[in-house]
Amino acid sequence: MMRTGMARDRASLCARAAPYLLCWLGACYPWSQALAQAQAQAQSQAQAQASPPVEAGPEDVPADNRFDTARMESTLVVPHTELSRFRFPVIDAHSHDIYTKTAAEVAAWVQLQTAVGVERTFIFTGKSGADFKAEVARYSGAYPGRFLMFAGFTIEGIETAEYGELLRRRLRADFAAGALGLGELTDKGMGLARVGGKAYYIDDERFDALWDEAGRLHVPVFVHIAEPAAFYAPADERNELRRSANWSLYGKGTPGFEGMQVRFERVIARHPHTSFVAVHSFNLANDLGRVGALLDKYPNVQVDFAARMWELARQPFTARKFFNRYADRILFGTDNDPGMAMYLAHARQLETEDEWFWPADAEWWRGYGMGLPDAVLRKIYRENALRLLRPHLDKQ
Ligand SMILES: [Zn+2]
Repeated sequence: MMRTGMARDRASLCARAAPYLLCWLGACYPWSQALAQAQAQAQSQAQAQASPPVEAGPEDVPADNRFDTARMESTLVVPHTELSRFRFPVIDAHSHDIYTKTAAEVAAWVQLQTAVGVERTFIFTGKSGADFKAEVARYSGAYPGRFLMFAGFTIEGIETAEYGELLRRRLRADFAAGALGLGELTDKGMGLARVGGKAYYIDDERFDALWDEAGRLHVPVFVHIAEPAAFYAPADERNELRRSANWSLYGKGTPGFEGMQVRFERVIARHPHTSFVAVHSFNLANDLGRVGALLDKYPNVQVDFAARMWELARQPFTARKFFNRYADRILFGTDNDPGMAMYLAHARQLETEDEWFWPADAEWWRGYGMGLPDAVLRKIYRENALRLLRPHLDKQ
């Protein structure tokens, strides 16, 4: 129930703060704990010494669900790992400006990050101009070096011949104001921008100037393309994500899941000198072979599994092979409301071989740890993010 509320709250925030980002369903899926719970979770974590670790639990549980895996208590007896922080320093390369409203909340978040071993966090604002500067002041201005800021773009003048030049100018200005890249730019099939009911999809040539300018400035572009394919199909009894049908795009007039993949690939291919990060792993985390093929084909692309850990949790062996093979191409990101249980669920899944626990943002299934080698953890936790931003880190 709480998550439904969070999603609604977030959708309205998005609508007010960044209409051009078009995240009316929320830019990302799904959400878990509210920041306000962080301290309570930390406390109960401490009290749970002898009991199983605190887990976030599944999301999107309908009140009338009569066969509910979330309410079932597992009788499985297996070892569990007690974690209190990440094994190595972490850069969380996927978070947002919407999680905290007050300076006190930002301060609490910084404290929580320090406690779990998150040394820096990317903040995707999706904002440009004065709105972007305000977020810079709130985050990286207040905590230099801790928060790395990402901007959006303007839809002003989108139908004019000067739009391309305007996009370039605005990006240069945002870059000068502290932007280390663009993020998060979202096209789920309703348009990267939408004006008066008209959708401007990600491969619209109007945006070419934006991708080109990002390449010229050597700043990465974080793109959220589509949603899991199941959300484009009817939410009937065969749909394994039907419990999260509040994210459904079925019947909304989108070009469909494959239609969006084609559009994004067109952009990536057209701009080989621009660095793209396909957040949520192209929303293809259910098909890591296909993600690998895309990484093989396009050296200018990296991925994150932010808010898709639940998808990896049910394929730990395939996921481990993928992470070992593409260790240089994966960024660690959470894309979640800050909370102790949320961070530790990520650490547990990536670092341990624990079994049958709830991953972050759980769907209706539990999952398994991947037990990644230290060398791989160091790369995805921190080194890859540093390499991505290397030319600009002195700005922060
Ligand atoms: Zn996000």
